[in-house]
Amino acid sequence: MSKQGPCKGCSESIEVSPEKVEAMLQMLISSRNVELADEETSAKRLDQCLSCTGYVYGGTCKYCGCLVQIRTKIKDRVCPYPLTPKW
Ligand code: SF4
Repeated sequence: MSKQGPCKGCSESIEVSPEKVEAMLQMLISSRNVELADEETSAKRLDQCLSCTGYVYGGTCKYCGCLVQIRTKIKDRVCPYPLTPKW
């Protein structure tokens, strides 16, 4: 059996422009009726992510695989940090 290489999507730095984040959020709002958190809540969540050991590859949460720029903005999402969620 050959050894599987690293996941391409998780081994490279992920840079998502603010325009792409906004486009993805708009898609989620229109297709899944998601509600956004208020800006203060989103900013506090993102601050937690930026100092978290689960924050990897410049934008991804290693516990859920989400882009934190998206996850922190969705109202009903929670932090997946094991045992002691950070937000
Ligand atoms: S575990 Fe929570 S705080 Fe840490 S990067 Fe993931 S979502 Fe952010």
